[in-house]
Amino acid sequence: MPCITRFAPSPTGYLHLGHAYSALRTADAAEAAGGRFLLRIEDIDSARSRPEFEDAIFEDLAWLGLSWETPVRRQSEHLDVYQQALETLSARSLIYPCFCSRREIRAEIAQAGAAPHGPGGALYPGTCRALSEEIRDQRIAAGDAYALRLDVARAGTEAGPLIWREQGRGDIAGDAASYGDVVLARKETPASYHLAVTLDDHLQGITLVTRGEDLFEATHIHRLLQALLGLETPQYAHHPLLHDQSGRRFAKRDKALTLRALRAGGHTAQSLRCILAEPADLSKFLETL
Ligand code: GLU
Repeated sequence: MPCITRFAPSPTGYLHLGHAYSALRTADAAEAAGGRFLLRIEDIDSARSRPEFEDAIFEDLAWLGLSWETPVRRQSEHLDVYQQALETLSARSLIYPCFCSRREIRAEIAQAGAAPHGPGGALYPGTCRALSEEIRDQRIAAGDAYALRLDVARAGTEAGPLIWREQGRGDIAGDAASYGDVVLARKETPASYHLAVTLDDHLQGITLVTRGEDLFEATHIHRLLQALLGLETPQYAHHPLLHDQSGRRFAKRDKALTLRALRAGGHTAQSLRCILAEPADLSKFLETL
């Protein structure tokens, strides 16, 4: 099977050193296997995505010396695909409308005292899972805002035991339940990250997902969605995240570490590639900035 990898940035800020590290690892994995490297623009969050950041992604990656296949998949151009998947899940009663505001959820969790927690924080307490069909219809007809949540317990029962393969760690037993009933769509975001990324990886034929280890736990949800929707399961390789001198991981707020700031400061793509090849020495480099 050919190795097909992808780098999937969100155009919500400029790429920083951490992105460069991830993109280079991803491209290297494809190259080492004689495979293909794809780029995907994850602009499903229309409120935060901006065209100038997308242009900057292309410019910065090209400057780094990377090349990718065209056309580039842009999530905002495939909303119909995500909608179709939501309809499939809805027809099987695997998702339900949730009318709770974030504040109501917080209040409910606070009231419950020791609420169960998952990788993403306190779990949604399931308030709207039990609403009758009649109440749901009434509230939707009344124009109440709602999100669509996955009924993970039901979905888990339908899917049965699942595994996915993490490079270097072997088979990992799927555990989506620890996430609780995740949101798969909201009014302002027609597909959540989990839904869009799972469908896109399948539709782009991705065989190896390389990304930061902060997304390791999310893979449990992706594996469950793959099973429910009959999609291929790629292999995964979650890499360590880079940290600054104070141990904080790089974020879009670190303006000095964006590729464009480094470029403007006289750094070359070659020098950054050398630094990123030995991330253990990164702190020395950061001290020079
Ligand atoms: N779009 C995500 C990000 O920029 C990455 C998603 C993924 O690689 O699965 O953090």
